[in-house]
Amino acid sequence: MIKDNIKNVRARMKAACDRCGRDISEVTLINVSKTKPIPDLMEAYNAGERIFGENKVQEINDKLPQMPEDVRWHMIGHLQRNKVKYIVDKVELIHSVDSLRLAEAISEEAVKKKCQVDILVEVNVAEEESKFGSTVSDTLSLVKEIALLPNIHIKGLMTIAPYVEVPEENRTIFRALKKLSVDIEKQNIDNICMGVLSMGMTGDFEVAIEEGATMIRVGTAIFGARDYSI
Ligand SMILES: *Cc1c(COP(=O)(O)O)cnc(C)c1O
Repeated sequence: MIKDNIKNVRARMKAACDRCGRDISEVTLINVSKTKPIPDLMEAYNAGERIFGENKVQEINDKLPQMPEDVRWHMIGHLQRNKVKYIVDKVELIHSVDSLRLAEAISEEAVKKKCQVDILVEVNVAEEESKFGSTVSDTLSLVKEIALLPNIHIKGLMTIAPYVEVPEENRTIFRALKKLSVDIEKQNIDNICMGVLSMGMTGDFEVAIEEGATMIRVGTAIFGARDYSI
């Protein structure tokens, strides 16, 4: 049951926090509900969950009117510039900004809609070919450029770590993202906050918490395996 899965994930989050002397209130759970039907999301909602992560603009727009109004939506997937207009004023946070051109599109749309948009800069720490994200070495200059744009606010960094069998193998990735965020914070750039570190998924969220994650994005451990064939 989804309710039991959530209890289990939250217990594991608490244990990971205890191991490294952090308070569980420092870590936000994003319930990654992509591909899952509304009744599944409602089960999580009724267990007290309010933050849902989706990776498709269309899916957020389909689900949003079917869920209670106090649900907070997070865009965690790759975002195309031509779809920005459909979500800027609907999501609490966009985790996946990886280029100046995308940030500019978000900023322009936010100005047009007179809203403020919070974002994370996605970093491809492992430099995997298959993944989006800025490289570690390019991130500071990207952040500085985005900081100058109106109505868009960087709240931190996000990474999608490689798929590994042994979660421990991603520790260096998480540590590198944390280090990068500390280095950027030290620059004291206007309109930049490095408070959020979005890292860790079903396979490795405990290691991510030990390395400083403030948001973890968990799908499979809550909703079960996804079926992409339907
Ligand atoms: C699907 C997805 C997740 C959740 O993955 P699980 O392994 O099912 O927990 C997290 N982050 C992003 C960006 C995703 O696309």
